[in-house]
Amino acid sequence: MAEKIYNFGAGPAMLPEPVMQKIQQEWLDFQGMGVSVIEISHRSKEFIAVLDEAQSLFRELTGLPDNYRILFAHGGARMQFAALPLNFAERVSSRKCLYVESGNFAGLAAKEAKIFSDMDIIASSAATDFDRIPEVTADQIDQSAAYLHITSNNTIYGTRWNQFPETGNVPLIADMTSELLSRRIDYNQFGVVYAGLQKNLGPSGMAMVIIREDLLGYAAKQTPTLLNYTQCNKDNSLTNTTNTFAVYVIKLVLEWLKEQGGVAAIEKLNEQKAARLYQVIDGSDFYRGIAQAESRSIMNVSFKLASEELDAKFLQEADAAGLYALKGHRNVGGIRASIYNPMSMVGVEKLAKFMEEFQRKNG
Ligand SMILES: *Cc1c(COP(=O)(O)O)cnc(C)c1O
Repeated sequence: MAEKIYNFGAGPAMLPEPVMQKIQQEWLDFQGMGVSVIEISHRSKEFIAVLDEAQSLFRELTGLPDNYRILFAHGGARMQFAALPLNFAERVSSRKCLYVESGNFAGLAAKEAKIFSDMDIIASSAATDFDRIPEVTADQIDQSAAYLHITSNNTIYGTRWNQFPETGNVPLIADMTSELLSRRIDYNQFGVVYAGLQKNLGPSGMAMVIIREDLLGYAAKQTPTLLNYTQCNKDNSLTNTTNTFAVYVIKLVLEWLKEQGGVAAIEKLNEQKAARLYQVIDGSDFYRGIAQAESRSIMNVSFKLASEELDAKFLQEADAAGLYALKGHRNVGGIRASIYNPMSMVGVEKLAKFMEEFQRKNG
């Protein structure tokens, strides 16, 4: 067996090993049916049981209030960038939708909303290269707007919201693609929370959308049926053939998370993992963190070395040491360690030791 590889890729990202093993074990014979889980109808009782179980595990793990619905939506996170204004802008006569630009995906979400609504960016940290979460004050939030959209964890820059904005009567919508289920969240603060699955939860191409019930029923007339959350909710996410494999994998990931002690336990571990890497970064002038300390993410740790040549040398040697996919996003350069729920402290410790050793040799 080859040396163990630790995968620090931003997404699609690593999944828990026991989940991968379970998939392999059941692949040819799902629950004694003699066929694979991807060969059965999305309307079969066996698959419906998987879907129900995924939803109820999510509820159990998050303490999701009863007035929220859990949907499985096509097209990953960015398809929801279009679905959000289509489903919610018509709630208000102005069709005004507010956005905070805290990074690349936040900007893309705003740009998409401009196609379908009267979009307004009320705060941005573009001027400081997205090294922080911009400040948002109550007086910036037009109380007649349909919603305020934020990106709770900015995957590329490695920043996150620590304190969510107070929005009054305006529903808060959050793209949590790179952090859903990584920390405890009070869902009562949100109208909608959504996430592409491929960073913390499963395969690519699908999203989970958690919606407060009273926000359903406002979709614009021209909304494509498969982007209509009200329809999706009515059909329990089975308007057409869902990605059955993705739903199955999420269910296994949620079972795994429960075995780890749930969200509170994984949050604690995630904090320890991130602290270990920030300790190395802060302990030297050799590594420079990209995010300001008060906005740091515990999922994506981004940093740079003194030159692009050193970055390249770091990446090459890290790769040879079994530390995979540490290259920063092309917008930022440098190094990015994505340390989602499945990344163990052992993997993080291996990276931290590698960083210390690399500094000793090259500092
Ligand atoms: C990765 C990512 C996306 C894009 O997800 P897709 O599923 O590829 O559309 C959107 N938002 C955030 C915060 C991300 O990290």
